Amino acid sequence: MSIAENLARIQNQIHDACARAHRSPGEVALMAVSKVHPVEVILEAHAAGQHLFGENRVQEWQQKFPTASPLEGLRMHLIGPLQSNKTTKAAELFDGVDTVDSLKIAQRLDAAAKALGKVLPIHIEIKLSHEESKHGIQPEDLPALLAYLPSLQNLTPAGLMTVPPWSEDPEAARPYFQRLRQLRDQHLPGAGLSMGMSGDFAVAIAEGSTCIRVGTALFGKRLYPAPA
Ligand SMILES: *Cc1c(COP(=O)(O)O)cnc(C)c1O
Repeated sequence: MSIAENLARIQNQIHDACARAHRSPGEVALMAVSKVHPVEVILEAHAAGQHLFGENRVQEWQQKFPTASPLEGLRMHLIGPLQSNKTTKAAELFDGVDTVDSLKIAQRLDAAAKALGKVLPIHIEIKLSHEESKHGIQPEDLPALLAYLPSLQNLTPAGLMTVPPWSEDPEAARPYFQRLRQLRDQHLPGAGLSMGMSGDFAVAIAEGSTCIRVGTALFGKRLYPAPA
């Protein structure tokens, strides 16, 4: 299947999930996750009408940037963990950072965005599972971070983001999506919810997702290079 065919199929699935949830498909953005794949997949998806993309490493996007960034209307978000020594590069190269997980990162991103004269939309990543490998701030630390954000004038809080523990069963993710939505309703009413991936985006849409991040269903399996 071509990327264009996959895109059309996923859009149909988004429409179906929205219809079941009595939501409008216009409320759910599809983010194409191009990490690990060559830059050509971005060109191909863009030619098929896709504009919003996600990469999970600053360096990887830096390599693809010269080829892909001139594409009309392209928006690239960072969806992987951000280290403080990469905040300047991230603010420069990305159109949004969806994985802000500390005050320090927020402050550094804000300073970098300010120096560039740009306003950066951010999502705050929340850690809802106990897995070591998962990133994000603890839910109890969210109010303090949100209280500080208005003083960071070059960041716009666009919503919350989470990655549930991996499971073959999409239903296993539902409680995590519900929890993120509760936190949003409580602390950032009306803001976005970046949640749902290839295996569970229909469940995420039912639970209120405003941005699903889809890699495998669109671009196929990621073939990681063998470790050196
Ligand atoms: C890789 C990745 C995705 C896409 O996952 P798929 O299961 O391939 O759709 C979504 N979100 C984040 C944060 C990722 O790192």
